[in-house]
Amino acid sequence: MRRNFVLLPVALLTLLGVLCVATPGPADAATPATLRARLATPASGVTDSRSVFVTVTLENAGVEPQSVLRRFTPFTQFNDGPAFIVERDGQPVAYQGRMVKYAPATAEDFLEFAPGQSRTTSVDLGALYDFSQPGTYTVRLRAVAQGRASRTSAGAAEDVPEWRGEFESEPVTIAIEPQAARAFVAPWAMGRVAIPAQSQSGDVTYVGCSAPELTAAQDAVVAACAMASRAFAASCSRGSADTDWVYWFGTWNSARCDVTHQHYLDIMNRFCSLPMTLWCHGPDCFSGVYAYVYPQQVPPTVYVCDGFWGAPMTGVDTKPGTLIHEMSHVLSGTDDYAYGQSDAHTLAVTNPALAIDNADNHEYYGEANPVAPLAVSPGARTATLRPARPNPSLGGAALEYALTSDGAVELAVWSLDGRLVRTVERGWRAAGEHRANWDGLDAEGRRAPAGVYFVRLTSAAESRSQRLVMLR
Ligand SMILES: [Zn+2]
Repeated sequence: MRRNFVLLPVALLTLLGVLCVATPGPADAATPATLRARLATPASGVTDSRSVFVTVTLENAGVEPQSVLRRFTPFTQFNDGPAFIVERDGQPVAYQGRMVKYAPATAEDFLEFAPGQSRTTSVDLGALYDFSQPGTYTVRLRAVAQGRASRTSAGAAEDVPEWRGEFESEPVTIAIEPQAARAFVAPWAMGRVAIPAQSQSGDVTYVGCSAPELTAAQDAVVAACAMASRAFAASCSRGSADTDWVYWFGTWNSARCDVTHQHYLDIMNRFCSLPMTLWCHGPDCFSGVYAYVYPQQVPPTVYVCDGFWGAPMTGVDTKPGTLIHEMSHVLSGTDDYAYGQSDAHTLAVTNPALAIDNADNHEYYGEANPVAPLAVSPGARTATLRPARPNPSLGGAALEYALTSDGAVELAVWSLDGRLVRTVERGWRAAGEHRANWDGLDAEGRRAPAGVYFVRLTSAAESRSQRLVMLR
């Protein structure tokens, strides 16, 4: 999901100038009421749908100086950022640009606005959204503003607490006539003529890595596989007793936990056993960036930058944690509502529904489940599922499996047409032999009808199946 903030009424928006919603912020009361955003389109119209320029103007209409964190606005290094809402004939048009994980902000990351000052930038939306279908598009800017306001009071400098809020422009409409419609070129494909040397390791393709970087990147992918496995196994297994989950995702709620559980399963499978690409030096890296992804790119591709190379393997804001952050954008559609431990935790407290949709919260919960000595080796055969006994069965069956290393597992019974009948076991298991019993009931406690079933064991590195015939 993207940008699903609940908006305040327009009258209040007009009153405030800046739209404050339930975004995190230690001092909502200090949100300046003075930032205005305006969009404009060229009078000449659009002649090529791959080149759709809008002009963005941000203005400080108040009497106090304001500073705005660039990263949530179009005033970034590359004027991209997912700050626009684009619709074609009322239908949402997906953002195709980058999602970036930034380092904590420093003074240079803020843009200063004196009272009355405005700044204008131009953004080529044709590179970020697919305008290839003729029609009428509406475009709005909806960005998070975060900043500090400092002012002088009775001759002394006074710090006004950091504020955070959303602001939104009026929409502009853009008509794409049939003769202007051209096939969309994805931004990751644009200008990529020469691909640096690649090396392949299992299902992971590494691009542009030196020999030591290749080793470090491989270690990070393996660690991300293990970290996601741990998070998958830990989430939802202890309910509200999982204080880490509550800290990063808010008040205990089993439906929300199921969402995060699924996210970690998808992320785990990707890092442990599915194709992906890692660029050791993203072509569009700049200072203060850990990594970025294009969520729509296939296969998932993580572009790492200097922030990644400076990150530790364990602790907070780690290499594997960065990979989990990025993969959550691709596989779980997470957004970047808040960066950093402090803001991410605040988001969990103030708006748990957004916390389960925020990439850094996924990273920090993963990092809260320490990765012990790496037990999981992607692609290695580590799990064996033995035939169910008895088979055929008149009721239940004993399900036995063996693990060559510790890891997360899920043991479940599936119908032939792909429906989950019953999850028998889910959690972190030590290496060795394990035995579980399926009582022949489905998740609602009804007797599973006669027929053929699959027992499936999913571990970090692989999935194993056995048939089970049920006679009644
Ligand atoms: Zn991100």
